[in-house]
Amino acid sequence: MRRTIQELTEQSSLLHPDQTQRKILQAGVGNYAEAFLTALDTAPAYVGDHAGVALQESPITEHGDELETVLELIGAEIDTPGVNCASGRHFGFIPPGGLYHSALGDFLAAVTNRYSGVSFASPGAARLERYLVEWIARLISYPQSAGGDLTSGGSIANLIGIVAAREAFELKAADLPNMVVYLSGQAHHSVAKALGILGLKECVHRHVPVDERFRLDADALERAVAEDRDAGLRPWLIVATAGSTDVGAVDPLACIADIAERHGMWLHVDAAYGGFFVLCEDGRKILLGMNRSDSIVLDPHKSLFLPFGSGAAIVKDKSLLLKAYHYEAPYLQDAQEAGVEPSPADVSPELTRPFRGLRLWLPLKLLGLAPFRAALQEKLLLARYFHAELDKLPGFAVGPAPDLSVVAFRYVPERGDADEFNRRLVQEILKEGRIFLSTTRLNGAFVLRLAILACRTHLDAVDLALDVLRRKAEQLTRQ
Ligand SMILES: *Cc1c(COP(=O)(O)O)cnc(C)c1O
Repeated sequence: MRRTIQELTEQSSLLHPDQTQRKILQAGVGNYAEAFLTALDTAPAYVGDHAGVALQESPITEHGDELETVLELIGAEIDTPGVNCASGRHFGFIPPGGLYHSALGDFLAAVTNRYSGVSFASPGAARLERYLVEWIARLISYPQSAGGDLTSGGSIANLIGIVAAREAFELKAADLPNMVVYLSGQAHHSVAKALGILGLKECVHRHVPVDERFRLDADALERAVAEDRDAGLRPWLIVATAGSTDVGAVDPLACIADIAERHGMWLHVDAAYGGFFVLCEDGRKILLGMNRSDSIVLDPHKSLFLPFGSGAAIVKDKSLLLKAYHYEAPYLQDAQEAGVEPSPADVSPELTRPFRGLRLWLPLKLLGLAPFRAALQEKLLLARYFHAELDKLPGFAVGPAPDLSVVAFRYVPERGDADEFNRRLVQEILKEGRIFLSTTRLNGAFVLRLAILACRTHLDAVDLALDVLRRKAEQLTRQ
C-alpha cells in the first residue's frame, strides 16, 4: 500500500509545481498578459466573424499540453472573438473596466486562498470585506447601522436587497396578492428576476411611467400608491434606478424617498451602474437622495472599473440580513464557539466564495481615491462632449443631455425606414470593429447607445467614435 501511495504521490505532485516550474509558468502567463495589454491600442473592439470553435477541437487530455500551445489557444479562440472588454473603444452595454491592480489582487487571493466566508477561518479576510462594505456605506452616507455583502455582481446584490425588504415586512405567502411593488420600465431585468426567484411574482407589480428623460415619474408613483391604498392593497416596495442600463437615467431619488417615507414603504435603489459616480463632484449632485433608500446596489465592476465579479449590496439595517442568512450547523461549531464578529456568510446566501475583498481593496489602497474621482468626472464630461458633438453632425437625432455617461441616439434618414437604417448602421460599425456599441428600444424605436465607462476610454476614443458614426452614416446614405 505504501508503494502505491508513493507512486500516486509522484504523479499527483504535478498539481503543485516547484519554484522553477512556477517561474516558467509565471513568465509565460506574464508575457501573454503584457502582449495582450500592449496590443490593446490597436486591437479591434469587436470581432464578429469568429466563434471560437477550435476550442472544442482541442480536448482535455490525460497528460496535458504545453503552456505555449495553451496560451496560443486562449489568444486565438478566447481573447479574439467577440467583444474586447479591455478595450477603451468598448461603448456597449455598460462598458467594463479591468483594473490591473485587481487582477493582481485576484492572483494573490487565489494563491493564498484565504477563506473569506467565515471570520474564524480568516479574521483578516473577513474583516477586510466588512471594512469595504462599511467604506461603501460611508461613501453613500448610510448610517453606522448599515451592513452588506460583496457579491459577484448587481443581479445577486438586487436579490439580497429585496430579501431584506421581504424580511423587514415579514411577508408570508398569504400576504403576497396584497403587496404592491412599484417599478419603472427602466428598471433592470435582474429586479424582476430576483422577485421571481424569491417567489414574489404573485405580488402586484405596478409599472410606473417615466418622464421624457426616462426617469420614474414621482407624481405618477404617488398617485398609484394612493389608488392602491384606497383599493385596500398594501404598497410595499419601490425599486428606483440610479443610472438605468438603457440611457443612464437617474430617477428623482429624493422625491421617491419622500413618498416611501410617507407611506412606510421600502425603497431599494439599483445603483449598480451609477452608484460610484458619487465619488466625483457632479455625480454626487446627480445622486442626491440615494442615501435615503433602505437598501442599495453598487457594482464595483462597473463604476469602479474592476474586472467582472464584483457587486455590493448594502442594507441600512444590517440585522435584517442576519435574520435572513444567519444559520448554524454542527460542522461549523468551531467557528460559532470562537464567537468572533459576524462573517460574510452570516449576511449572504453564499458560504464558500472567492475572497472578493482583495481585488477591490488593492487598487484603492495602492492608487488612492484621486484617480477614481478624476476618471468618473472624465467619463461624465466625455458623455456630455459626445452628446454635444453628435448633435452637430447632420442627420443624427440625440435626446436630452445624459444624466450620467450613456447617450442614446439614432440617425434619421431622409428616405426609408429609420429603424432599418439604424440596424444597418450598427451592423456596419461592428463589421469594421474599431468601436463596439450596442442598441436598445426606446418608446418602440430602435436606437443606438454610446456608453462611456471603460477606464481606458479617453477623448481620442470618443473622437474616433464620432468619426466612425459620421463616416458610416454617410456611406449608408450614399448606397
Ligand atoms: C448591470 C446592471 C445590473 C446587473 O448587474 P450584474 O452585475 O450584471 O449582475 C443591475 N442593474 C443595473 C442598473 C445594471 O446596470
